[in-house]
Amino acid sequence: MSISAVKGFRDALPEAARLLGRVETAALDVLARYGFDEIRLPIVEKTELFARAIGETTDIVEKEMYTFPDRDGTLLTLRPEGTASLVRAYVEHHLDQRDPVGRFSYVGPMFRHERPQKGRHRQFYQVGAELIGREDPLADAELLVALWDVLAEVGITGASLLLNSLGDAQCRPAYRDELRAFGESRREQLCENCKRRLDKNPLRILDCKEPGCRAATEDAPRLVDHLCAPCATHFARVRELLDAEGVAYTLDSRLVRGLDYYVRTTFEVLGPGLGAQSAIGAGGRYDGLVAQIGGPQVSGIGFAFGVDRLVLALQASRPEVEAEVASELAPELFIAPLGAAAESAALGVARRLRQAGLRVELDGGRSLKSLMRRADKLKARHVMILGEEELAQRRATMRDMEAKQDRKLAVDIDLTGDELLAAVGARRSA
Ligand code: AMP
Repeated sequence: MSISAVKGFRDALPEAARLLGRVETAALDVLARYGFDEIRLPIVEKTELFARAIGETTDIVEKEMYTFPDRDGTLLTLRPEGTASLVRAYVEHHLDQRDPVGRFSYVGPMFRHERPQKGRHRQFYQVGAELIGREDPLADAELLVALWDVLAEVGITGASLLLNSLGDAQCRPAYRDELRAFGESRREQLCENCKRRLDKNPLRILDCKEPGCRAATEDAPRLVDHLCAPCATHFARVRELLDAEGVAYTLDSRLVRGLDYYVRTTFEVLGPGLGAQSAIGAGGRYDGLVAQIGGPQVSGIGFAFGVDRLVLALQASRPEVEAEVASELAPELFIAPLGAAAESAALGVARRLRQAGLRVELDGGRSLKSLMRRADKLKARHVMILGEEELAQRRATMRDMEAKQDRKLAVDIDLTGDELLAAVGARRSA
Protein backbone atom coordinates (compact mmCIF):
# COMPACT_ATOMS: atom_id res chain seq x y z
CA MET A 1 0.00 0.00 0.00
CA SER A 2 1.31 3.44 -0.82
CA ILE A 3 1.89 6.08 1.85
CA SER A 4 0.23 9.48 1.56
CA ALA A 5 1.21 12.82 3.09
CA VAL A 6 -0.01 13.68 6.58
CA LYS A 7 -3.36 15.50 6.71
CA GLY A 8 -2.91 19.25 6.44
CA PHE A 9 0.64 18.88 5.08
CA ARG A 10 0.77 19.57 1.39
CA ASP A 11 3.21 18.99 -1.39
CA ALA A 12 3.85 22.06 -3.49
CA LEU A 13 4.29 20.64 -7.01
CA PRO A 14 6.53 22.64 -9.38
CA GLU A 15 3.86 25.12 -10.51
CA ALA A 16 2.76 25.76 -6.91
CA ALA A 17 6.35 25.89 -5.66
CA ARG A 18 7.21 28.45 -8.31
CA LEU A 19 4.29 30.64 -7.25
CA LEU A 20 5.34 30.42 -3.60
CA GLY A 21 8.92 31.26 -4.59
CA ARG A 22 7.83 34.19 -6.73
CA VAL A 23 5.84 35.69 -3.88
CA GLU A 24 8.61 35.12 -1.33
CA THR A 25 11.26 36.67 -3.58
CA ALA A 26 9.12 39.72 -4.31
CA ALA A 27 8.44 40.23 -0.60
CA LEU A 28 12.06 39.79 0.47
CA ASP A 29 13.21 42.17 -2.30
CA VAL A 30 10.94 44.95 -1.10
CA LEU A 31 11.91 44.33 2.52
CA ALA A 32 15.62 44.44 1.65
CA ARG A 33 15.11 47.92 0.17
CA TYR A 34 13.63 48.93 3.52
CA GLY A 35 16.75 47.57 5.23
CA PHE A 36 15.25 44.32 6.50
CA ASP A 37 17.85 41.60 6.04
CA GLU A 38 16.99 37.94 6.05
CA ILE A 39 17.70 35.87 9.10
CA ARG A 40 17.34 32.06 9.08
CA LEU A 41 15.84 30.60 12.19
CA PRO A 42 15.43 27.00 13.32
CA ILE A 43 12.11 25.28 12.81
CA VAL A 44 12.25 23.66 16.25
CA GLU A 45 12.42 25.57 19.54
CA LYS A 46 11.96 24.72 23.18
CA THR A 47 8.24 24.67 23.96
CA GLU A 48 8.65 27.13 26.83
CA LEU A 49 9.67 29.85 24.34
CA PHE A 50 6.24 29.87 22.70
CA ALA A 51 4.39 29.40 25.97
CA ARG A 52 6.17 32.45 27.37
CA ALA A 53 6.09 34.62 24.24
CA ILE A 54 2.71 33.89 22.69
CA GLY A 55 0.83 33.35 25.95
CA GLU A 56 -0.37 30.24 27.80
CA THR A 57 -4.05 30.94 27.18
CA THR A 58 -3.90 31.61 23.46
CA ASP A 59 -5.43 29.19 20.93
CA ILE A 60 -2.02 28.59 19.43
CA VAL A 61 -0.38 27.49 22.67
CA GLU A 62 -3.41 25.71 24.10
CA LYS A 63 -4.50 23.74 21.06
CA GLU A 64 -2.43 24.17 17.95
CA MET A 65 1.21 23.41 18.63
CA TYR A 66 3.10 20.34 17.45
CA THR A 67 4.95 19.47 20.62
CA PHE A 68 7.04 16.38 21.32
CA PRO A 69 9.73 15.29 23.76
CA ASP A 70 13.30 15.15 22.52
CA ARG A 71 15.30 12.00 23.37
CA ASP A 72 16.42 13.58 26.64
CA GLY A 73 12.86 14.53 27.54
CA THR A 74 13.13 18.27 26.72
CA LEU A 75 9.81 19.44 25.27
CA LEU A 76 10.24 20.79 21.75
CA THR A 77 7.76 22.49 19.43
CA LEU A 78 7.60 22.99 15.67
CA ARG A 79 7.40 26.77 15.45
CA PRO A 80 3.85 28.08 14.99
CA GLU A 81 5.08 31.59 14.08
CA GLY A 82 8.31 33.49 13.58
CA THR A 83 8.42 36.41 16.01
CA ALA A 84 9.16 34.38 19.14
CA SER A 85 12.13 32.65 17.47
CA LEU A 86 13.42 35.89 16.08
CA VAL A 87 13.29 37.58 19.45
CA ARG A 88 14.97 34.55 21.03
CA ALA A 89 17.81 34.83 18.48
CA TYR A 90 17.99 38.60 19.04
CA VAL A 91 18.46 38.10 22.77
CA GLU A 92 20.77 35.09 22.46
CA HIS A 93 23.18 36.89 20.11
CA HIS A 94 22.97 40.26 21.89
CA LEU A 95 21.99 41.88 18.61
CA ASP A 96 21.11 45.13 20.42
CA GLN A 97 24.84 45.57 21.02
CA ARG A 98 25.58 45.38 17.29
CA ASP A 99 23.04 48.08 16.48
CA PRO A 100 20.35 49.60 18.70
CA VAL A 101 17.96 49.31 15.76
CA GLY A 102 17.58 45.92 14.12
CA ARG A 103 15.62 45.16 10.97
CA PHE A 104 15.14 41.52 10.04
CA SER A 105 13.12 39.53 7.56
CA TYR A 106 12.45 35.81 7.59
CA VAL A 107 10.69 33.26 5.45
CA GLY A 108 9.83 29.62 6.00
CA PRO A 109 7.35 27.02 7.15
CA MET A 110 5.21 27.34 10.28
CA PHE A 111 3.13 24.59 11.90
CA ARG A 112 -0.27 24.77 13.55
CA HIS A 113 -2.69 21.96 14.25
CA GLU A 114 -5.76 23.67 12.80
CA ARG A 115 -8.64 22.19 10.83
CA PRO A 116 -7.44 22.18 7.22
CA GLN A 117 -9.47 24.04 4.60
CA LYS A 118 -8.83 26.36 1.68
CA GLY A 119 -6.05 28.73 2.74
CA ARG A 120 -5.54 26.93 6.04
CA HIS A 121 -2.96 24.20 6.41
CA ARG A 122 -1.03 22.57 9.19
CA GLN A 123 2.24 23.43 7.50
CA PHE A 124 2.09 26.84 5.86
CA TYR A 125 4.63 29.47 4.90
CA GLN A 126 5.15 32.93 6.25
CA VAL A 127 7.30 35.82 5.16
CA GLY A 128 7.76 38.43 7.85
CA ALA A 129 9.59 41.53 8.97
CA GLU A 130 10.55 42.70 12.44
CA LEU A 131 11.81 46.13 13.45
CA ILE A 132 13.36 46.07 16.92
CA GLY A 133 14.61 49.02 18.96
CA ARG A 134 12.27 51.77 17.81
CA GLU A 135 9.24 52.94 19.74
CA ASP A 136 8.40 56.07 17.81
CA PRO A 137 5.29 56.11 15.60
CA LEU A 138 7.40 56.70 12.48
CA ALA A 139 8.58 53.09 12.85
CA ASP A 140 4.97 51.81 12.88
CA ALA A 141 4.10 53.88 9.82
CA GLU A 142 7.22 52.82 7.92
CA LEU A 143 6.53 49.16 8.62
CA LEU A 144 2.95 49.52 7.38
CA VAL A 145 4.10 51.33 4.27
CA ALA A 146 6.57 48.47 3.65
CA LEU A 147 3.74 45.97 4.11
CA TRP A 148 1.69 47.85 1.55
CA ASP A 149 4.59 47.95 -0.89
CA VAL A 150 5.04 44.18 -0.55
CA LEU A 151 1.44 43.69 -1.70
CA ALA A 152 2.01 45.96 -4.69
CA GLU A 153 5.24 44.21 -5.67
CA VAL A 154 3.63 40.78 -5.40
CA GLY A 155 0.84 42.04 -7.68
CA ILE A 156 -2.13 41.95 -5.31
CA THR A 157 -4.95 44.43 -5.79
CA GLY A 158 -8.03 44.95 -3.68
CA ALA A 159 -6.46 44.21 -0.28
CA SER A 160 -7.56 46.17 2.77
CA LEU A 161 -5.81 47.11 5.97
CA LEU A 162 -7.54 46.93 9.36
CA LEU A 163 -5.96 48.94 12.14
CA ASN A 164 -6.41 49.11 15.89
CA SER A 165 -4.53 50.07 19.04
CA LEU A 166 -4.46 47.60 21.92
CA GLY A 167 -3.12 50.11 24.43
CA ASP A 168 -0.38 49.12 26.83
CA ALA A 169 0.24 48.03 30.42
CA GLN A 170 -0.99 51.46 31.58
CA CYS A 171 -4.41 51.47 30.00
CA ARG A 172 -5.26 47.90 29.01
CA PRO A 173 -5.81 46.38 32.48
CA ALA A 174 -8.58 48.84 33.35
CA TYR A 175 -10.18 48.30 29.97
CA ARG A 176 -9.90 44.52 30.38
CA ASP A 177 -11.77 44.74 33.68
CA GLU A 178 -14.46 46.90 32.14
CA LEU A 179 -14.84 44.49 29.20
CA ARG A 180 -14.98 41.52 31.56
CA ALA A 181 -17.75 43.19 33.55
CA PHE A 182 -19.59 43.93 30.31
CA GLY A 183 -19.14 40.30 29.19
CA GLU A 184 -20.39 39.00 32.54
CA SER A 185 -23.57 41.02 32.10
CA ARG A 186 -24.14 39.18 28.78
CA ARG A 187 -22.70 35.85 29.87
CA GLU A 188 -25.73 33.80 28.87
CA GLN A 189 -25.54 35.00 25.26
CA LEU A 190 -21.90 33.97 24.85
CA CYS A 191 -20.59 30.67 23.46
CA GLU A 192 -18.83 28.21 25.79
CA ASN A 193 -15.46 29.26 24.46
CA CYS A 194 -16.12 32.93 25.21
CA LYS A 195 -17.40 32.12 28.69
CA ARG A 196 -14.02 30.58 29.34
CA ARG A 197 -12.24 33.52 27.71
CA LEU A 198 -14.06 35.94 29.99
CA ASP A 199 -11.99 34.72 32.89
CA LYS A 200 -8.68 34.18 31.20
CA ASN A 201 -8.45 36.53 28.25
CA PRO A 202 -11.58 38.70 27.91
CA LEU A 203 -10.31 40.68 24.89
CA ARG A 204 -10.72 37.54 22.81
CA ILE A 205 -14.53 37.71 23.09
CA LEU A 206 -14.28 40.58 20.61
CA ASP A 207 -12.88 38.46 17.78
CA CYS A 208 -15.14 35.43 18.26
CA LYS A 209 -16.79 34.56 14.94
CA GLU A 210 -20.00 33.11 16.50
CA PRO A 211 -22.98 35.26 15.40
CA GLY A 212 -24.44 35.10 18.94
CA CYS A 213 -21.22 36.45 20.46
CA ARG A 214 -20.94 39.13 17.81
CA ALA A 215 -24.44 40.34 18.54
CA ALA A 216 -23.87 40.23 22.30
CA THR A 217 -20.68 42.32 22.01
CA GLU A 218 -22.01 44.76 19.43
CA ASP A 219 -22.03 47.65 21.92
CA ALA A 220 -19.06 46.49 23.98
CA PRO A 221 -16.75 49.23 25.26
CA ARG A 222 -14.00 50.00 22.74
CA LEU A 223 -10.37 50.00 23.65
CA VAL A 224 -9.64 53.00 21.41
CA ASP A 225 -11.89 55.04 23.70
CA HIS A 226 -9.89 53.95 26.76
CA LEU A 227 -6.32 54.58 25.63
CA CYS A 228 -4.02 56.45 28.01
CA ALA A 229 -2.64 59.74 26.71
CA PRO A 230 0.71 58.36 25.43
CA CYS A 231 -1.03 55.48 23.60
CA ALA A 232 -3.64 57.82 22.11
CA THR A 233 -0.96 60.27 20.93
CA HIS A 234 1.09 57.45 19.43
CA PHE A 235 -1.90 56.01 17.57
CA ALA A 236 -2.99 59.40 16.26
CA ARG A 237 0.50 60.06 14.88
CA VAL A 238 0.66 56.63 13.17
CA ARG A 239 -2.63 57.38 11.45
CA GLU A 240 -1.51 60.87 10.48
CA LEU A 241 1.64 59.45 8.85
CA LEU A 242 -0.36 56.79 6.98
CA ASP A 243 -2.86 59.40 5.81
CA ALA A 244 -0.05 61.60 4.55
CA GLU A 245 1.38 58.68 2.62
CA GLY A 246 -1.99 57.72 1.16
CA VAL A 247 -2.13 54.28 2.79
CA ALA A 248 -5.83 53.57 3.31
CA TYR A 249 -6.97 51.66 6.40
CA THR A 250 -10.14 50.92 8.34
CA LEU A 251 -10.22 51.31 12.10
CA ASP A 252 -11.44 48.05 13.64
CA SER A 253 -11.93 48.07 17.38
CA ARG A 254 -12.57 44.30 17.36
CA LEU A 255 -9.12 43.52 16.07
CA VAL A 256 -7.42 42.03 19.13
CA ARG A 257 -5.25 39.30 17.52
CA GLY A 258 -4.63 35.89 18.99
CA LEU A 259 -1.22 36.50 20.50
CA ASP A 260 -0.73 38.04 23.92
CA TYR A 261 2.42 39.99 23.19
CA TYR A 262 0.84 42.78 21.17
CA VAL A 263 0.55 46.34 22.50
CA ARG A 264 -0.50 49.58 20.84
CA THR A 265 -0.60 49.35 17.03
CA THR A 266 -2.05 46.11 15.67
CA PHE A 267 -3.24 45.36 12.16
CA GLU A 268 -4.49 42.75 9.78
CA VAL A 269 -4.56 42.66 5.98
CA LEU A 270 -7.53 41.11 4.18
CA GLY A 271 -7.02 39.87 0.64
CA PRO A 272 -9.22 39.07 -2.35
CA GLY A 273 -10.20 35.54 -3.39
CA LEU A 274 -9.90 33.80 -0.04
CA GLY A 275 -13.38 33.13 1.27
CA ALA A 276 -13.48 32.44 5.00
CA GLN A 277 -9.73 32.65 5.52
CA SER A 278 -9.39 36.19 4.22
CA ALA A 279 -6.50 37.35 6.44
CA ILE A 280 -3.37 37.38 4.30
CA GLY A 281 -1.16 39.03 6.86
CA ALA A 282 -1.08 40.56 10.29
CA GLY A 283 1.14 42.02 12.93
CA GLY A 284 1.66 44.64 15.55
CA ARG A 285 3.80 46.19 18.19
CA TYR A 286 5.34 44.05 20.94
CA ASP A 287 7.24 46.42 23.22
CA GLY A 288 7.54 44.09 26.22
CA LEU A 289 8.42 40.90 24.39
CA VAL A 290 12.22 41.18 24.20
CA ALA A 291 12.46 41.74 27.95
CA GLN A 292 10.00 38.91 28.56
CA ILE A 293 12.36 36.56 26.70
CA GLY A 294 15.21 37.70 28.94
CA GLY A 295 16.63 40.51 26.82
CA PRO A 296 16.92 44.27 27.27
CA GLN A 297 13.90 46.54 27.53
CA VAL A 298 13.55 47.41 23.83
CA SER A 299 10.51 47.96 21.64
CA GLY A 300 9.57 46.01 18.58
CA ILE A 301 7.01 45.86 15.81
CA GLY A 302 6.55 43.38 12.99
CA PHE A 303 4.26 41.61 10.58
CA ALA A 304 3.91 38.27 8.87
CA PHE A 305 2.20 37.42 5.62
CA GLY A 306 0.89 33.94 4.94
CA VAL A 307 2.63 33.06 1.68
CA ASP A 308 0.04 30.43 0.69
CA ARG A 309 -2.68 33.06 1.06
CA LEU A 310 -0.65 35.70 -0.80
CA VAL A 311 -0.56 33.20 -3.68
CA LEU A 312 -4.37 32.79 -3.58
CA ALA A 313 -4.79 36.57 -3.49
CA LEU A 314 -2.35 36.94 -6.38
CA GLN A 315 -4.27 34.36 -8.45
CA ALA A 316 -7.47 36.31 -7.77
CA SER A 317 -5.80 39.64 -8.64
CA ARG A 318 -3.92 38.49 -11.73
CA PRO A 319 -5.33 35.25 -13.21
CA GLU A 320 -2.71 35.44 -15.98
CA VAL A 321 -0.04 34.53 -13.43
CA GLU A 322 -0.84 30.82 -14.00
CA ALA A 323 0.04 31.07 -17.70
CA GLU A 324 3.19 33.04 -16.89
CA VAL A 325 4.37 30.35 -14.52
CA ALA A 326 3.54 27.56 -16.99
CA SER A 327 5.57 29.37 -19.62
CA GLU A 328 8.50 29.84 -17.21
CA LEU A 329 8.50 26.11 -16.56
CA ALA A 330 8.59 25.25 -20.29
CA PRO A 331 12.05 24.76 -21.82
CA GLU A 332 13.33 27.59 -23.98
CA LEU A 333 15.10 25.00 -26.07
CA PHE A 334 14.69 21.26 -26.46
CA ILE A 335 17.69 19.37 -27.88
CA ALA A 336 16.94 16.18 -29.77
CA PRO A 337 20.10 14.18 -30.58
CA LEU A 338 19.85 11.11 -32.79
CA GLY A 339 22.47 8.44 -32.18
CA ALA A 340 25.40 8.05 -29.80
CA ALA A 341 27.79 10.53 -31.47
CA ALA A 342 25.10 13.23 -31.60
CA GLU A 343 24.21 12.58 -27.98
CA SER A 344 27.84 13.11 -26.92
CA ALA A 345 27.91 16.43 -28.74
CA ALA A 346 24.46 17.44 -27.47
CA LEU A 347 25.43 16.98 -23.84
CA GLY A 348 28.15 19.63 -24.22
CA VAL A 349 26.04 21.98 -26.34
CA ALA A 350 23.20 21.80 -23.79
CA ARG A 351 25.60 22.40 -20.95
CA ARG A 352 27.18 25.48 -22.49
CA LEU A 353 23.77 26.94 -23.31
CA ARG A 354 22.65 26.30 -19.74
CA GLN A 355 25.80 27.92 -18.39
CA ALA A 356 24.95 30.93 -20.58
CA GLY A 357 21.53 31.09 -18.91
CA LEU A 358 19.16 29.22 -21.23
CA ARG A 359 16.60 26.74 -19.89
CA VAL A 360 17.37 23.62 -21.96
CA GLU A 361 15.76 20.20 -21.98
CA LEU A 362 17.87 17.34 -23.33
CA ASP A 363 16.46 13.94 -24.13
CA GLY A 364 17.80 10.95 -26.05
CA GLY A 365 17.64 7.25 -26.71
CA ARG A 366 14.55 7.45 -28.82
CA SER A 367 13.26 8.22 -32.29
CA LEU A 368 12.95 11.72 -33.72
CA LYS A 369 9.18 11.30 -33.80
CA SER A 370 9.01 10.44 -30.13
CA LEU A 371 11.41 13.26 -29.18
CA MET A 372 9.36 15.79 -31.14
CA ARG A 373 6.22 14.58 -29.44
CA ARG A 374 7.78 15.22 -26.05
CA ALA A 375 9.10 18.66 -27.07
CA ASP A 376 5.60 19.52 -28.18
CA LYS A 377 4.09 18.31 -24.93
CA LEU A 378 6.55 20.37 -22.89
CA LYS A 379 5.64 23.42 -25.01
CA ALA A 380 9.29 23.99 -25.91
CA ARG A 381 9.49 27.06 -28.09
CA HIS A 382 12.48 25.84 -30.10
CA VAL A 383 13.92 22.42 -30.87
CA MET A 384 17.49 21.77 -31.95
CA ILE A 385 17.81 18.55 -33.95
CA LEU A 386 21.25 16.98 -34.04
CA GLY A 387 21.32 13.98 -36.38
CA GLU A 388 24.26 12.12 -37.93
CA GLU A 389 24.10 14.29 -41.00
CA GLU A 390 23.96 17.57 -39.04
CA LEU A 391 26.86 16.43 -36.93
CA ALA A 392 28.99 15.59 -39.95
CA GLN A 393 28.39 19.11 -41.27
CA ARG A 394 28.69 20.73 -37.80
CA ARG A 395 25.27 22.21 -38.45
CA ALA A 396 22.19 21.79 -36.32
CA THR A 397 18.63 22.09 -37.55
CA MET A 398 16.57 24.50 -35.48
CA ARG A 399 12.81 24.22 -35.48
CA ASP A 400 10.60 27.06 -34.33
CA MET A 401 7.72 25.13 -32.78
CA GLU A 402 5.26 28.00 -33.05
CA ALA A 403 6.08 28.88 -36.64
CA LYS A 404 6.68 25.17 -37.41
CA GLN A 405 9.70 26.13 -39.50
CA ASP A 406 13.07 24.48 -39.87
CA ARG A 407 16.16 26.67 -40.05
CA LYS A 408 19.53 25.28 -40.90
CA LEU A 409 21.97 26.89 -38.49
CA ALA A 410 25.73 26.80 -38.64
CA VAL A 411 26.26 25.81 -35.04
CA ASP A 412 29.86 25.01 -34.38
CA ILE A 413 29.73 22.61 -31.47
CA ASP A 414 32.90 24.15 -30.08
CA LEU A 415 31.37 27.61 -29.76
CA THR A 416 31.27 29.20 -26.31
CA GLY A 417 27.97 29.34 -24.45
CA ASP A 418 27.35 33.01 -25.23
CA GLU A 419 28.12 32.50 -28.91
CA LEU A 420 25.83 29.49 -29.00
CA LEU A 421 23.13 31.47 -27.28
CA ALA A 422 23.36 34.23 -29.86
CA ALA A 423 23.38 31.67 -32.68
CA VAL A 424 20.33 29.67 -31.60
CA GLY A 425 18.24 32.75 -30.78
CA ALA A 426 15.98 30.78 -28.42
CA ARG A 427 15.66 33.26 -25.59
CA ARG A 428 12.17 33.51 -24.20
CA SER A 429 10.93 37.04 -24.53
CA ALA A 430 10.40 38.40 -21.04
P1 AMP B 1 -0.69 35.07 12.64
O1 AMP B 1 0.71 34.62 12.98
O2 AMP B 1 -1.75 34.19 13.22
O3 AMP B 1 -0.89 36.51 12.84
O4 AMP B 1 -0.83 34.81 11.07
C1 AMP B 1 -0.24 35.62 10.11
C2 AMP B 1 -0.67 35.15 8.75
O5 AMP B 1 -0.24 33.81 8.52
C3 AMP B 1 -2.17 35.08 8.58
O6 AMP B 1 -2.70 36.32 8.21
C4 AMP B 1 -2.31 34.06 7.47
O7 AMP B 1 -2.13 34.67 6.21
C5 AMP B 1 -1.17 33.12 7.72
N1 AMP B 1 -1.64 31.91 8.41
C6 AMP B 1 -1.87 31.73 9.73
N2 AMP B 1 -2.28 30.48 9.99
C7 AMP B 1 -2.33 29.83 8.80
C8 AMP B 1 -2.67 28.50 8.40
N3 AMP B 1 -3.03 27.55 9.27
N4 AMP B 1 -2.60 28.19 7.07
C9 AMP B 1 -2.22 29.12 6.17
N5 AMP B 1 -1.87 30.39 6.50
C10 AMP B 1 -1.93 30.74 7.79
